[in-house]
Parts: sequence; C-alpha cells; structure tokens
Amino acid sequence: MVTSAPVSPISGTPVVPGLGLGPVVVARTELDPVAVAAYAARPALEEADALAAFDAAAAEVAAGFERRVAAGSGAAAAVLTASAGLARDKGLRGAVRRHLRTGAGLLDAVHAAVAQFVELFSQQGGLMAERATDLRDIERRVLARLVGLPEPGVPVPDVPSVLVAEDLAPADTAGLDPRLVVALVTERGGPTSHTAIIARQLGLPCVVGAAGALGLADGAIVLVDGGAGLVELGPDPVAAAARVEADRAERAAVAGWAGPGRTADGHAVRLLANVADGESAAQAATGPVEGVGLFRTELCFLSAADEPSVEEQADVYAAVLEPFGERSVVVRTLDAGSDKPIAFATHEGEENPALGVRGLRLSFDNPGLLGRQLDAIAAAARRTGTPTSVMAPMVATVAEADAFAREVRARGLRAGVMVEVPSAALLAHRMLEVVDFLSLGTNDLTQYTMAADRMATDLAHLTDPWQPAVLQLIAITAHAGRGAGKPVGVCGEAAADPLLACVLVGLGVTSLSMAAAAVRPVGARLARVTLAQCEAAAEAALAAGDPAAARDAVRALLD
Ligand code: PEP
Ligand code: MG
Repeated sequence: MVTSAPVSPISGTPVVPGLGLGPVVVARTELDPVAVAAYAARPALEEADALAAFDAAAAEVAAGFERRVAAGSGAAAAVLTASAGLARDKGLRGAVRRHLRTGAGLLDAVHAAVAQFVELFSQQGGLMAERATDLRDIERRVLARLVGLPEPGVPVPDVPSVLVAEDLAPADTAGLDPRLVVALVTERGGPTSHTAIIARQLGLPCVVGAAGALGLADGAIVLVDGGAGLVELGPDPVAAAARVEADRAERAAVAGWAGPGRTADGHAVRLLANVADGESAAQAATGPVEGVGLFRTELCFLSAADEPSVEEQADVYAAVLEPFGERSVVVRTLDAGSDKPIAFATHEGEENPALGVRGLRLSFDNPGLLGRQLDAIAAAARRTGTPTSVMAPMVATVAEADAFAREVRARGLRAGVMVEVPSAALLAHRMLEVVDFLSLGTNDLTQYTMAADRMATDLAHLTDPWQPAVLQLIAITAHAGRGAGKPVGVCGEAAADPLLACVLVGLGVTSLSMAAAAVRPVGARLARVTLAQCEAAAEAALAAGDPAAARDAVRALLD
C-alpha cells in the first residue's frame, strides 16, 4: 500500500452516506493500445466477414451480460438485461454496416456507430442519456473481443478497497462484492446514474461527479465521505480509523432500526417506500415502512408498445397493492414523457419535452388514457382491499387538480397531486381545497425551480434539493398542509437524505417516501433528534446562502 501526501479533498456529489477508508483501486476502461494497433495493422476484412466478426463479438458480450443477470438481482438484473438487448440491437448493427460500407475499418465502424447512438441518446436527455454509459461499455467490450483481449472491467482487489472509475456500467456494478469494496467514487454520473442506483442497493458509501478522481494512484489511501461528497487523500490514519469506527456504530444503529417513524420526542413521521412494480413492492413490504408513498406506474410500461387493457393494468397494480394488505398505497398516474418515454402515450418530436406534454398533461387531449388507468387502479383496490390513493404528476394549476380529483373520487379513491411545478407550491393552499393530500416531487420541483436539467452532471450544484429556493417552496407547501389539516409528504430523492429528512420534518412535512433501502438510515436519524431540533435545522437551512452552507449549518445543529 502507498500513502500519498495530503492534498485538498476531491469533491463530488454525495450519493450514499457513510465512510469508506482504504486503498484506491482504479477501474481502467481503456484497451491496451498495442493490441489495438496490431489489429488495425492487419489486412482489412471484407464487409461480410467484418460484419460477421462484429455479430460474434456482440453476441458474446450480450451472453456475458445475461450470465451476470443470473447472479445479479433487482435493479442490477434489470439494467444488465437492458444492456444485453442493446448489444444485440439491430439499429446498432445497421449503423456498423453503414460505416463499413463507407470503407471504415471494423474498429472504426464500431466506434462511429456507437458514437452516433451516444449522441442520439444524449440529445434525448433524461434516462436515455444514462444509456450512453452502457453503450460506451458495450463498445469497449466488443472492441476487446475483436482484438482478442479479455473484456475490460472492474479489478477484484485483494483487500477491502475504494473503487474509483470514470463511471460504472451496469455490468461492472452488478458483480461488485461489498466485502471487498468499501466505497465507490466516479468522475462522471449524477445522483441517478447506475453507479448511484447500485451503491444505494448495496449500501456502499458513494460519491459521483468527482472531478479529478481518476488522477488518484492505485494503492493511495483515501477516506471517502459519502454524506459530504468528499474524497480525502492520505488522511491521518488514527483520526480516520476513529471516524470510520463511529460510522460503523451508526450503521449498526441503522440496521437495528425497526420503525415506525418517530422523532426522539415521539413526533410521528410516516416513512413510506417508493416502488416500481410488483417485485419491488413485495420486497419493500418486508421492511419497516407504513406503506407506499409513490408507485411510479409508468415504469411498468417502459417496453409496452400498446396501451395495456384495463384488465391487464389492474393485474399489474394489484401485484403492487397486494403485499401491503392494510397498509396504504399511493399510486401515481402515468408520468410518461420527457425522461420516461412510453410508446403508447408520449408525444413525439417535442422541442423541449421536460416542459412539454408530460405527466397529467397527456390526458388533456387523451382523457380516455387517464380514465382507463383510474378504472384499473380502482379495480385493483377493490380486488385487494388495500387502502389506495391516487395522485397526478406535473400538476400546474388548481383547475387541473380539481378535475383530476373529481375523476379519482368518482371511483371511490382518495385524490392527491404532486407538487413538482413551482406554481403548485405557490398555490398549495388552494390545491388543498380540492385534493386530500399533496406529495412534493422534489426531483422535478428542484429542476423547475432552478431551471436546471435534473440529469445534467455539470449543473449538479443547482439540481440540489438543499437549494434554499427549493426549501422555501417546500416550506410554503407544508405550511399550507398544516393550515388545511391535510397531509403533505415528500416522495423525491430529498426524502432519502437522512440529514435533509430532519429539515423536511422541521418544515412540517408529514411523510417521507423513498427507496426502501433508505428507510432505515432516515428512520434511525429521525429517532436521534427532537422536533424542536428539526425546526431549528429547517430555519437554519432556509436562512443559508447555498446548499453547502445549509448542510454545514444543519450538521452543526444536529451532529
Ligand atoms: C420527483 O420528481 O421528485 C418524483 C418523485 O417523480 P420522478 O422522479 O418520477 O419524476
Ligand atoms: Mg417527477
């Protein structure tokens, strides 16, 4: 092991809190240039032979992903299956053939074809832009196979280490052994990247978007603080070990937390799960949650070409309601459009889809789509007996909320709307005259308040829910909830940040809904603070000038 001289810490976006101390192991993704040059020096293949070589390499890469599906689970298996599909994609193959026809060598043709799709996906933004990482990973794997090298990937360290990479593709993260990886640091990626998703699933401290991380030498000792988004090089060994030990004790408290959500002085905060389908719901229902605060129905239909029938939809929804029995579930109607294109619902060719016809707006010229979905949700609620509420995404006006609530109540269900657009927060008191509850979608609320694409790595300092302007809108909404005596929850990623959760409670929100894995850390954190402390933290965060100052002020009060 090598200890480097201390330099100022590398900072990035904090994703999973916790401390990880150990030697750096860098996942290098570039191919051996000598092998590539040797391949390029060979006589060029005929087009048909070149295409056959591509087919064989792509099929091997896809088969490799599929083998790992068997070993992975949940999100990991889903992203690996998608990567296998991408490696076998006919469009990609067609692009390789077109480039071969222009006289390009095979390696150049593969590179050009992938670059073309990366550009296309990046332009689409959102979740599609995240696929660019998968495509680059597929390119490296195919090229390695073509030149006769093993597929590149993550080295398996001998001792527990901090894994540093440019960005991690699903295939890299799916095989991670949490006993040998104590933290993850990537130069690229945002809080919704694959790296972030898998780190959350494995509970590994994680910092993404950490510029300069790839400059760390293999073996250098670093302390990763996934809560502060810092990577400290060459920390004082005694102090670092003590901090890691305290962190371990904290994690043990987290593991032992069994609910329900309460502050130290007994103020109740409902802690709920965000789910995507029957499988994730069944898993979440085994944890210490009081129900579901956000069921993202659109995620069930990402690959459906046609709108499923009411009966088919009812089956899908019942699979989510069933595992919760008496516990309540909030179903969100289709949030198609923008970063979640759904073949049967999304409007094509919009100039600016994030500001276009997405979410509830899809029902403006297609009311039947919403009506059929509500019929299916009502049928699933009757069949399972699970207390069911329905909320709409992307609501901008009180009239929209009113019309939606009437449709929902006509089917015997409780109605709410998401607060994702600043206009909804500013008029929260009037929204609450027509609906039963509000749910703050802080991911979009932050994007629209700060006018910054939630997927843009370069704008991560703006797309931060700790921005005082975002907290101000949350305060307005929660205040309206208290005035109306109706629940106001948070179901965006902000709810999963244990420190921010204390601030949200202090602002007056009544429930927090998050990825199931985040519930224990949030529950354990709330159990250590009083409501008065949360209120003081909220005041301090609102008064801060920027997210960093807000975090510091709240830590000073609560830690
Ligand atoms: C949000 O915007 O905060 C939210 C919960 O919705 P989604 O992340 O699905 O857009
Ligand atoms: Mg949203």
